[in-house]
Amino acid sequence: RSAATRRATGQRTKTAGTAPGDVRLTHPEREVFPGEGITKADVAAYYRAVAPLLLADVGGRPLSVLRCPDGTGKACFFQKHTGRGWGDHVRSVTVKEKSGSDRYLAVDDAIGVLQLVQMNVLEFHPWGALATDQNHADRIIFDLDPHPSVTWSEVKKAARIVHDALAAIGLESFLRTSGGKGLHIVVPLAPAVPWDEAKQFAAQVADTLAGARPRTFVSIAGEQKRDKRIFIDWLRNARGATSVGSYSLRARAGAPVAMPIEWSELARLRSAAAYDIRSALAKIKRRKRDPWEGFDRIRQTLPSPGAVEARNS
Ligand code: ATP
Ligand code: MN
Ligand code: MN
Repeated sequence: RSAATRRATGQRTKTAGTAPGDVRLTHPEREVFPGEGITKADVAAYYRAVAPLLLADVGGRPLSVLRCPDGTGKACFFQKHTGRGWGDHVRSVTVKEKSGSDRYLAVDDAIGVLQLVQMNVLEFHPWGALATDQNHADRIIFDLDPHPSVTWSEVKKAARIVHDALAAIGLESFLRTSGGKGLHIVVPLAPAVPWDEAKQFAAQVADTLAGARPRTFVSIAGEQKRDKRIFIDWLRNARGATSVGSYSLRARAGAPVAMPIEWSELARLRSAAAYDIRSALAKIKRRKRDPWEGFDRIRQTLPSPGAVEARNS
């Protein structure tokens, strides 16, 4: 996927040849996950190892990052603008707003990733659009948000149902753990589609599934609390909205990772936080192929509005 990413991001080559190891890390010994013995140096080593994989998902996109300057035990905050002195590989991209424009963060290479880590970034949250094509979604994300009373096996069944509903309308989809409570199902789109079409489609899938299986799903934000079901969070699919990027760490207990997996691994998946900073790396080294192999090469676009209901009601 790295070649495709380079193409997609028009990779900057400002200081080609500089090793990511050259990024200076202050307070490498500082514990980032309290009580877990995971330091800023460990976080940097993790991101150095996964940088090409992370960049395939977050590179060249406007980003929100979650920073935890004093570790996950203290206040963390989202940031979408770059700051002074963040390093020469942390780019800012101009995002046009209703009135005027704004400057957002973006990275294209491992040095940029590590310069963000130096600024105590733990989580990477990309747009579903490239910085070079901000008005078009090149992926749709269904973020399954279960009420705490929903069992893990129900969450897994629900992910499979979403997969099958998408397959029924001819769309290939990819699975990742969120590193939190739920699962994300990601649909690559090429050519990319205008945001209003992406959002409308995602809402329609969520509404159709909630209509057909009202004991499993809700499609209205907040209703999973009242109804003790799974909210199909389709609201990630809007210009400016983000979802956590594949291979991002999460600032939660146990240092979990948002981990892409194969659909065939779903049945045996133990939880949405099954992979952490250590086991994710071990799995990456062990596995024979990228679980999202082909993601960047798939050419598929949204079906006509009638198709979703016709196939899934
Ligand atoms: P979980 O499986 O526990 O739901 P999640 O990453 O899917 O984990 P959500 O609360 O469902 O968490 O949020 C989905 C995405 O919305 C996040 O990954 C993030 O990109 C974005 N998001 C949520 N809250 C914020 C926030 N306060 N600021 C910026 N982005 C946010
Ligand atoms: Mn979620
Ligand atoms: Mn959500």
